[in-house]
Amino acid sequence: MNVENTIWRCARCDVPLIMKKTVFNYLGQSFTHDVPCCPSCGNVLITPELARGKMAQVEEQLEDK
Ligand SMILES: [Zn+2]
Repeated sequence: MNVENTIWRCARCDVPLIMKKTVFNYLGQSFTHDVPCCPSCGNVLITPELARGKMAQVEEQLEDK
């Protein structure tokens, strides 16, 4: 699956999502990432790319301690 070419839609509103820089707090760590966000209800989509990338990095950092 090519994320770049995917147009995400909000499951609730059925409108195309826009990319928005969002701050996440995960396992006590915070990071910012551009994620698809619904302009209508503010629902943020966690893409597989984000879950495997940033969140995995956070988990690795915690394991190193
Ligand atoms: Zn929505």
